Amino acid sequence: MDIIVNSVGDANCILIKSDGESMMIDCGVKNGCYASIKEQFIGAQFLAADYFLLSHYHDDHYDLLRKLPICKKSVLKKFYYPIIPKLSSSSITLLNNSTTVGSPTTLPIKIGKNKTNCCILAQCILLMQVLHNSVIPFKNFGSPAANILELLRKRCDRINGAEALYMGKKIKLGSEEYEVIWPPRTFTYKDPGNTDGIAMPKEIVKNINNIFEVLKNNDNLKKVWDKLGEYVKNDTKENFDSIDNNVDELKDIIDAASKIQQETKDLIVGYAKNIANSISICLYRDNEFLFLGDLENAEIKKCIEKKFGSSGEIKVNYFIAPHHGTHWNDELKRVKAENALISVGESLYNRKKILNYKMVCMHLFITFNHGDYKCCNEALVFNIMQNYNMLSFYNSVVSLK
Ligand SMILES: [Zn+2]
Ligand SMILES: [Zn+2]
Repeated sequence: MDIIVNSVGDANCILIKSDGESMMIDCGVKNGCYASIKEQFIGAQFLAADYFLLSHYHDDHYDLLRKLPICKKSVLKKFYYPIIPKLSSSSITLLNNSTTVGSPTTLPIKIGKNKTNCCILAQCILLMQVLHNSVIPFKNFGSPAANILELLRKRCDRINGAEALYMGKKIKLGSEEYEVIWPPRTFTYKDPGNTDGIAMPKEIVKNINNIFEVLKNNDNLKKVWDKLGEYVKNDTKENFDSIDNNVDELKDIIDAASKIQQETKDLIVGYAKNIANSISICLYRDNEFLFLGDLENAEIKKCIEKKFGSSGEIKVNYFIAPHHGTHWNDELKRVKAENALISVGESLYNRKKILNYKMVCMHLFITFNHGDYKCCNEALVFNIMQNYNMLSFYNSVVSLK
């Protein structure tokens, strides 16, 4: 396989090619010094990509989609996005009993037998999207992936499909298969006997509780929350399908959202942002490729143990270090990578944890030091942007298809 790691500051934008097909993983930019030439360069990659995968709902992973030059591709074969894990029944008990959360009768949460089992995480993310309304072009709505989908729609004449990814799914590039190793389908809470799901990270519990606290004191926010609950279904596909049908009805949600105090918005967005990293899509291909999104330290451990057990080496050719090389868990010492690749800009670069990644690879490449780089079977090419004529680059990626 080939990889292009674009130098986009403290953000992520990667193109991977496997057996003739290519997939763009994220398309963000942050604190990077980038110019229009860079946008063209990445625009050309976007045009050549068969698939687009959004690792998680943070703007340093999709914001560049808004800034690409006028480029519109005819067909995107599929858009992949992370599923919002469901909370298991034990988590619902938590919500019913906890004093910090409040009772379902005072809060507009429909939980329990014979009622809609709203997914709290999905609500958080949806809420975040409503509140991000000023940042992301906001039209269609209905699933956590809707805003990104809207961005993609502006860039593609046709999107043939969209799919929420979760642990255990397989995706194909050409004939080569990549396994999704995170996020889990279900998060559980305080339920050691449950082998189905993954224990819900404390951080998520904390942030959900915090969101409930904010909800209690803000009528407009409650209105938004309540309305959102009606649109959150258990099945992500259903959400996706309903996007276009609900636009008019959702106007009052957007209305109410606009009346929420800025201070409250900042709080909620802050909490919801903390959740997003924990549900990053992570990918693995035997002996070849390991991508861990922006996983938090605790989830790195859970993800590695879930996939690879509690011991043994994990050999790969390319290892994309999680969270721009700044997140680390000792479980990663088991990784033996030919190349560790880090996408990072100036402001995250000085975090010492980046140094940890020297331990797990033969070669360490960091966009902040090396610029854009392309790794392929034959060679490693630095500063590809400077070295490539845009047109010939575009032709070369397109001709591979
Ligand atoms: Zn990030
Ligand atoms: Zn992130």
